[in-house]
Amino acid sequence: MTARTHDLAAITALGVVFMIGPARTVTLATAIAAVFANLIGGITPDIDQPTAPFWRNLPVGKYFGRVFDAMLGGHRFLTHSLLGLVLFGFAAHWLIIFIHPLMMRVDTGLVWWAFMIGMFSHLVMDTLTKEGVPWLLPIPIKFGLPPLKRLRITTGKAVETFGVFPLLLIFNGFFYWANYHELLDILHQRIV
Ligand SMILES: [Zn+2]
Repeated sequence: MTARTHDLAAITALGVVFMIGPARTVTLATAIAAVFANLIGGITPDIDQPTAPFWRNLPVGKYFGRVFDAMLGGHRFLTHSLLGLVLFGFAAHWLIIFIHPLMMRVDTGLVWWAFMIGMFSHLVMDTLTKEGVPWLLPIPIKFGLPPLKRLRITTGKAVETFGVFPLLLIFNGFFYWANYHELLDILHQRIV
């Protein structure tokens, strides 16, 4: 999937989890940090791609991208597995604790969850593509849905652009329409 679809999927997952999860009050700083962390989590697995947007936007990103690519075992390897999810979970935990003194009003636990939800949504979305995802590394089997490869999506092609992406948008529209009062309550009462 493209970065654009991954970001939309990540924010969709975050919205659903937050809306159906237990009601909680968060600071505006937490809400903003959580959205950022979620979007970063949504594209993090693709740092194993030298051409990933993550690297393209850095001046010498192309070279770092190649180094990471080699270290992480090539595209759709460590960062696209449950093991990678756990390792990045630890890394994100320490990074968030490290920068917490700069953002005291932020609930670090929630920001961490937002990052992990973004990263998890990436693996789920990539599971729908032809290449599949090696969920159970070090067992080197790539899983995909539907199991028949022929029926899966090709990254960046018409089904993604005109099918998956608009469907996610429609889902968001419907979801927030159906939970309109809950959404108002969050915006008016629960972000402080
Ligand atoms: Zn990916």
